Amino acid sequence: MRKPLVAGNWKMFMTVAEARHLVADLVPRLQTVEGVQIVLCPPFTDLLAVAALLEGTNIGLGAQNMHWEPNGAYTGEISPLMLAELAKYVILGHSERRTYFHETDETVNRKVKAALEYGLIPIVCVGESLDENESNRTAEVVSRQMLKGLEGVDLSGGKEIVIAYEPVWAIGTGRAATPEGANQVLADVIRPALAELFGQEMSQVVRVLYGGSVKGDNAAQFFTMPDIDGALVGGASLKAEDFTRIAQAAASHS
Ligand code: PEP
Repeated sequence: MRKPLVAGNWKMFMTVAEARHLVADLVPRLQTVEGVQIVLCPPFTDLLAVAALLEGTNIGLGAQNMHWEPNGAYTGEISPLMLAELAKYVILGHSERRTYFHETDETVNRKVKAALEYGLIPIVCVGESLDENESNRTAEVVSRQMLKGLEGVDLSGGKEIVIAYEPVWAIGTGRAATPEGANQVLADVIRPALAELFGQEMSQVVRVLYGGSVKGDNAAQFFTMPDIDGALVGGASLKAEDFTRIAQAAASHS
């Protein structure tokens, strides 16, 4: 059985003061949600404050990106060595990073390997654009992102990764994929790619999330799908009530 995971991607929102306020609101709501791994991924500048507030809770902490080197002359970057002191998870290869910051399958691959080396759990995002979707290239694109992004990755010794299937056309648009459509990509493309990379058994162990306009009122239908193990949530993770409803929906299907 794969334990459901609900991760909140705060993107570039929340000052430290705002983050403290949101987490103070979230913690008592989420404390009673059982059987789900909940993870908050705030901006780097909030990590220290949020880590302090999450101490002793069942809520995990993640970052939204990192460089692959442990240190060096890379002005403005944050390393896995630095993150490992504060967080357990890191989102890698988000479509906003691929689109606006020119991340490629190759740089995602370096980051995934570095994250695992430093004991972090990467949440690796894959997903096709609207154009790719409309030209029936979803399987080709997602398969390539999986096989290239995870090429040579070693999951021995209990190392863990999480995959998030996030069709680009569904992110921040209010136009979520259908639960059946998303599940089909997981079942027909992502799990077979995991099997090719890590073996059949591992392909059934790795958690695969859906992301793209998941809200409190549509989350439950995704969690009834056999291959969907949770959600990566953007906009709705900034609202305590909405995010709690999503976590509760995942709990009731755990
Ligand atoms: C995301 O940023 O990963 C995301 C899924 O955003 P939203 O939930 O707002 O579509």
